[in-house]
Amino acid sequence: MPAAPAPGQVNCGVCGAESRQASFRPGMPEQAPDLDLRPGPPLRGSMGRWLQQCPHCGYAAPEIAQAHPAAAQAVGGAHFRGLLNDAATPPLARRFLAWALVLEETGALHAAAEATLHAAWVADDLNKPELARAWRRDAVALWRSGPALDAEQTVRVVDSLRRAGLHDDAAATAEALLAKEPPEAVAQVLTLELRLAAAGDERRHSVASALPPPSRRPHVSHQGSVRRGEGFMGWLRRLFRRG
Ligand SMILES: [Zn+2]
Repeated sequence: MPAAPAPGQVNCGVCGAESRQASFRPGMPEQAPDLDLRPGPPLRGSMGRWLQQCPHCGYAAPEIAQAHPAAAQAVGGAHFRGLLNDAATPPLARRFLAWALVLEETGALHAAAEATLHAAWVADDLNKPELARAWRRDAVALWRSGPALDAEQTVRVVDSLRRAGLHDDAAATAEALLAKEPPEAVAQVLTLELRLAAAGDERRHSVASALPPPSRRPHVSHQGSVRRGEGFMGWLRRLFRRG
């Protein structure tokens, strides 16, 4: 049994080294997410606190005290070591990509796609469009190599393709989901994506710009706010599963 860490310190689940780490409890976003479900402020601006990273071995995770048995293999791999030493990748993006490599090694391909998309958001914030495009393409490849995608994930694939400049693929993917008659909110987002892709628009857009204002839909007037206890993902699911 390893010794219990001192207060405020955690033991890395991969290498056992002790380091000081802050724990992160996400607050609720107060504004609508982007079309790829990047949360609105203030949660949007807190990405620097979403993951912990071991200063000794580089392992990154929401809680580095916990590690899947395959995590050590990923962290010891050439890919991972190369990433940690890659000066061309901004440090915060490196942290998300490191977590993505661990998730990929454990077979959690959709979660790895998500972490890779988070790296693209970091690139967006740093105004590095080439990195953002590359990581969005990587995220799409990971999503598509995993199990079948639900409507919410497919919307994120469509938006990632469009923002990576792959407009034909974005449009074809959106049309394929529309043909399956998804919930109304999903159809509205896809319709906006088709319009943006046709116009060659690679910019960020908010979910709010795809959905009619609540005043015109009185029966769903509370859709824009998070209900007590449901959490951010619960709110998003509600938004997207509305039929
Ligand atoms: Zn470590």
